[in-house]
Amino acid sequence: MIVTMVPECTDEQVGRVISHLREFGYQTHTLVGAGPTVIGATGRGVSDELIDQIGGLDGVSLANRSMQPYMLAQRAARPAGSRVPVGEDAQVVIGAGDLTVMSGTCSVENREITLEVARAVRAHGGQMLRGGAFKPRTSPYSFQGLGEEGLQILAEARAETGLPIVTEVMEPEQVELIAEYADMLQIGSRNMANFPLLRRVATSGKPILLKRGFSATVNEWLMSAEYILAGGNDQVVLCERGIRAFDTSTRFTLDLNAVPLVKQLTHLPIIVDPSHGVGIRELVPQMALAGVAAGADGLMVEIHPDPDSALSDGDQTITLDAWERMMASVSAVRDAVQGSMGLAVVA
Ligand code: PEP
Ligand code: MN
Repeated sequence: MIVTMVPECTDEQVGRVISHLREFGYQTHTLVGAGPTVIGATGRGVSDELIDQIGGLDGVSLANRSMQPYMLAQRAARPAGSRVPVGEDAQVVIGAGDLTVMSGTCSVENREITLEVARAVRAHGGQMLRGGAFKPRTSPYSFQGLGEEGLQILAEARAETGLPIVTEVMEPEQVELIAEYADMLQIGSRNMANFPLLRRVATSGKPILLKRGFSATVNEWLMSAEYILAGGNDQVVLCERGIRAFDTSTRFTLDLNAVPLVKQLTHLPIIVDPSHGVGIRELVPQMALAGVAAGADGLMVEIHPDPDSALSDGDQTITLDAWERMMASVSAVRDAVQGSMGLAVVA
């Protein structure tokens, strides 16, 4: 069962709902944060009588039988959608209607490149800077990232440009260090189902970018989001980054079906990463536009001043010029589809 409170509810009203549910033998899980408070109850069947009783308590907006296994993440918990504030004074809000574009190199390589890229992102309408300091590489012999030095470089780029930074965390033990520098923590595709890591980032106090595992179903992905929500963090943004299908002509298959589907199933915002999704540089701008047309709340795109020399993912990385051109088209597509976006959302 899920109980959504009215936005102006008091702590006492929330407390009364929780104690009522516990008296009846339920366990409760509370989602607080930027959107209305939601209380999920598990452990027993739900009678219509109980739904009516809870629905009648002060401060309750709606009480529902939970339709989905991802109880707190389901759309019905926050029908209007969640907004995820990022950065100092919430200078970026993901899911509020504007498109949030996060760009940068795949790995943080050095100070010069990171600053050059950050300036370009700032100058041409990007909202956030990305870059991996701890890299999940298929080969143990490939560049593994600069570690803390990479985080310091990202922080310097933020100080100069004001762009909030998003960077990957791979292990629970790294969360504390990375959270000292980053504005948003990225859970990579390979770690989507790393449950100890999901539990740990839930208590980090930072918004989380949860990439889809490349072999994960939408249901599994939303269950991973549920781990973070159930752990007390409602600041979760999903990222569709391509799944493994039978065709190896592209690196992965960008599953754009997932965008409108996820909008129906969950209140969490979703962004699209066409870089990993196709893996071929020339196809990235068009698939970015397709993601926007599908209703994504944002994009994550890998860029580099000289992609051929990039230390990771060069084949899928576009130049700063190509990114600038892409950004002009992104705005045009966004404007063209904006009026019809409501059609994709079932409240
Ligand atoms: C990345 O963003 O550079 C990355 C490693 O992404 P993914 O986890 O989607 O492969
Ligand atoms: Mn990459």
